Amino acid sequence: MPNSTQSPYLLLANIGQLLTLRGEAAPRRGRDLQDIGLVENAAVLCGGGKILAAGPQRELLRDPWLRTNRRKVRELDCQQRVVIPGLIDCHTHPVFAEPRLVDFEKRIGGADYEEIAAAGGGIRSSVAAVRRSSRGELSKKVLAALNAMLEQGTSVVEAKSGYGLTLEDEVKSLEAIRDAARQWPGEVVPTLLAAHVVPQEYAGKADDYVKKVCDEMIPQVAKKKLAKYVDVFCDRGAFTQEQSERILAAARKHGLGTRAHVCQFTAAKLAPLLEYQPASFDHMDCVQPEDVSLLARGETVAVLLPGTNYFLGHTGFPDARRLIDAGVPLALATDYNPGTSPTPSMPFVLSLACTHMKMTPAEAIAAATINAACALRLQQRKGSLEAGKDADMAVFDVKDYREIAYWFAWDRCVEMVVAGRVVGLGTLGER
Ligand SMILES: [Zn+2]
Repeated sequence: MPNSTQSPYLLLANIGQLLTLRGEAAPRRGRDLQDIGLVENAAVLCGGGKILAAGPQRELLRDPWLRTNRRKVRELDCQQRVVIPGLIDCHTHPVFAEPRLVDFEKRIGGADYEEIAAAGGGIRSSVAAVRRSSRGELSKKVLAALNAMLEQGTSVVEAKSGYGLTLEDEVKSLEAIRDAARQWPGEVVPTLLAAHVVPQEYAGKADDYVKKVCDEMIPQVAKKKLAKYVDVFCDRGAFTQEQSERILAAARKHGLGTRAHVCQFTAAKLAPLLEYQPASFDHMDCVQPEDVSLLARGETVAVLLPGTNYFLGHTGFPDARRLIDAGVPLALATDYNPGTSPTPSMPFVLSLACTHMKMTPAEAIAAATINAACALRLQQRKGSLEAGKDADMAVFDVKDYREIAYWFAWDRCVEMVVAGRVVGLGTLGER
């Protein structure tokens, strides 16, 4: 008889509310975003890192295999709490060395994002600190951030470079992500964001920098298999539409996926960028009406980042209702970064989505699970709890799933299961 602590089988029992998010492995749109597949008095059986069954506990316990093999199965008593798929943070910038406290105080004093950048703060100050840091120092910071995310329910993280801005420092940043990811139980999706801002040494020569990104950085990173995606900051003060297209074209040429920061400060024309089949468009604060209907017909996910609006002290937030009601597939993420959103907390983002973007708790959770999986093109394996999918789950110490978005700045995640193993936080009873 194998020792149950080494068992490849795990049963999550006595779940008060299980949110399965079951259904088609495709982004939820419109009214379907509400459909969270709620099962009360549920259980989940995992084996070999995958979900074997998820549903009503009474049915699951009648399974003939489970009845004869129950003693081989490790069991986690969820004590009537809420279990959801591990949250998916599909937009983060974790490779930085220091918090940006000067920016923080300057902004309190009334300076805006662009004035801070012009004064030598902003992204460029993070660039100087990353260039001074070793790969080992950076990977420690990335791992600390990943662990903070895990503690709050996140099991998949998209992680961008973008504070190096030389071939050497972007490679170092992506290697730091890879090193941290190897020590973390969840899954990390690495993204090259060399086109974050034009570095100081290329001031007035942005096209030369774009050429370097396209001809040197993207090919090297693709060759070393250090990134799955290439991202570009297409906005005022960063890269033009035409430069952004060149960067996305180079990504496609080298077999990498694409995504873009767009419409944070100024509207971009999305149709030309859609030619490069981006997995996501991120921010989307000021998207044009004609682009809303275009997105409603496509597969590119709009990733909203309300933590940024909160931290910048903006009163306006992305118009989630307009996008959802038009049928645009929508996801949520933290945008974890030192300048505009220093939070690892997806539950806080869910709270912001409800209070400031008028999403329902069900919509917010779907946007942070199945739709976020679609934004990373991981929906075949991640984002819902169904037989055959990866057994990634977060247990929250609440009785009703709506409480996950209701309590804010209060971490209610008490246990994490990643690839069918209890990795976490160890507060629940185990047999
Ligand atoms: Zn970002």
